[in-house]
This record gives sequence, structure tokens and C-alpha cells, in this order.
Amino acid sequence: MPIATRAFAATSSTAPLSPYGFDRRDPGPDDVAIEIKFAGVCHSDLHIVKNDLGNTTYPIVPGHEIAGVVTAVGGNVARFKVGDRVGVGCMVDSCRQCKPCLEGEEQYCVPGMVQTYGSPDPKAAGTGQKITQGGYSTAIVVDQNYVVTIPDSIPLDAAAPLLCAGITTYSPLRHWKVGPGSKVAVIGLGGL
Ligand SMILES: [Zn+2]
Ligand SMILES: [Zn+2]
Repeated sequence: MPIATRAFAATSSTAPLSPYGFDRRDPGPDDVAIEIKFAGVCHSDLHIVKNDLGNTTYPIVPGHEIAGVVTAVGGNVARFKVGDRVGVGCMVDSCRQCKPCLEGEEQYCVPGMVQTYGSPDPKAAGTGQKITQGGYSTAIVVDQNYVVTIPDSIPLDAAAPLLCAGITTYSPLRHWKVGPGSKVAVIGLGGL
């Protein structure tokens, strides 16, 4: 059954976000259905809402810092079960065949990852949606490969901003093996 979902959507570049109802897809064998508890506000959300890049499709539901609780899983899903605390970040699918995808670097997917909102949605058949819709909503259905576990030690509201802003800043520190005693400079361009 498709999942009736309430959301806040932008309907034009100038209108404020307004209530919007739509259906999430019926969870497939590899899908995780999530009740969204919190969604961070990323500055990218504002750029897309205001059509700053010139390619926004309306109506659009922003939000790619998503934290919530699993409400259903498909038959192939072993990593998650109902009640688990989970997160979804900036992407919900990718080609899974290119070199970056095979190396676990799906964010560099050559044909392009499927972004959490605003991407053409190949799995939206039957929902009436042409594009993916994001986390300013009550529920989302995401392939298990693009869902992460949130440890019990991190409150869901604190976890949400880690899914984009947090990982964007943490990733280079980890890549360069920054640790105690390291000297780093953080360039103050942009929100991160
Ligand atoms: Zn973001
Ligand atoms: Zn790929």
C-alpha cells in the first residue's frame, strides 16, 4: 500500500512552504519505510526552494537531513527492523554499477546519484510524483542501501543535521586522519 504522507512543500520560488499531501511508494522488497521524526534545515533546501540554480521542479518537499524510526521493511531487508532508529542523507539511490558506486563512494556516481529530493524518481510509479520528495514530511520510503543506523547514544534531533552538514565536515577530517594534536584550518566559506 502506498503511504499517505503529509509534508511542507514549495509551490513556487516566491511562495512560503505550505502543507502538501502525497503518497510515498508501496515499499518494495529492498525498501525501508520510515516515520520521520526530525529533518534538519540545510541551506541547500533554501537554494532549491528559491530556484537559485534554475532547475527546481515544483511542488518540491525539501529536507535531506532525515532522522526517524522504521515502520516497515521489505522481504530482502535484513539490516533493519521495525522500530530501528535510522537516518537518510542527501541521496536515496545511485547506478550501483560505476566505479565510485562499487567502491562505496556513491556520492560520486558517474551518471549521478538520485538525490533525496528534486531528482527524477524512477521508483515513483503510481504515486503521482515525478521527482523525489524530501524530509519535511511525515514518512519516506528508501532502498536499504541508502539508509544508515542511528546509535541509541545520539538523540534523533541531534542526529538529523549530521546527515548532511555533519558528514560534510567530518568526512575531510577523517580522510586526512585528523586527530588529537593535528593542526587544521577551516575555510569560512559557506554554511559548513
Ligand atoms: Zn545539505
Ligand atoms: Zn554509480
